Amino acid sequence: MQCHYCDRDADIAVDSDGIKVGVCKTHFREQMAELEDADWLDDLEDELDIDRRE
Ligand SMILES: [Zn+2]
Repeated sequence: MQCHYCDRDADIAVDSDGIKVGVCKTHFREQMAELEDADWLDDLEDELDIDRRE
């Protein structure tokens, strides 16, 4: 799967409200910053153990 936002291979496939979107880690973090209220991101973050210290 290709990243939805750039030409790189997607590292993560997210399924939000039935819509499957592949994203690379860079864009995943960007989207997470915008959508950090979404419940599914909390679950996904736990799963991936992403380092968010910035
Ligand atoms: Zn990307």
